[in-house]
Amino acid sequence: MPTVTPVHHAYIALGSNLGLSADALEGAVAEIAALPETQVQQISPWYRSAAIGGPSNQPDYLNAVCAIDTALEPRPLLQALHQIEHHFGRERQVRWAPRTLDLDIIWFDNLTSPDPGLTLPHPRAHERAFVVRPLADIAPDLVLQGQPLSHWLKQTSDQAITRW
Ligand code: AMP
Repeated sequence: MPTVTPVHHAYIALGSNLGLSADALEGAVAEIAALPETQVQQISPWYRSAAIGGPSNQPDYLNAVCAIDTALEPRPLLQALHQIEHHFGRERQVRWAPRTLDLDIIWFDNLTSPDPGLTLPHPRAHERAFVVRPLADIAPDLVLQGQPLSHWLKQTSDQAITRW
């Protein structure tokens, strides 16, 4: 019997508001595509959004979402994403502080997990225009927290975000 590589589908949010953000996002997508048994299927348009929380006067973020197929399970995928963040010099010191690169798993195979180390779907994704807008561009039929993205687009319509 031939072995079939298990394929999972996932959406990853990318954000950066320090340094060369466009280079960080492009580099991160390239590194995600280079993960073992992983293909980047879609990349959303890029958006510029105002920082939420943290110190005032932070630079705007550059944000995008990508869709992947992968044989990695959620935990190894998250560990790989943390390594990619470190390649781009992210320092995890102050919550919501500016960061060169932030990678979050937004959705993975319709799995739900309450684990604080890896909560699925991402517990705050649906509240954030910088996730919902790009996600709706590449996965308009996706449901988060029991509601279609069209619902979350309306709910987050007061948040400042523009196409980059
Ligand atoms: P942040 O500083 O906002 O990137 O949060 C990172 C922490 O959130 C990490 O320690 C992760 O273990 C945890 N976390 C929980 N759920 C997720 C998720 N769906 N994607 C990425 N990180 C997550």
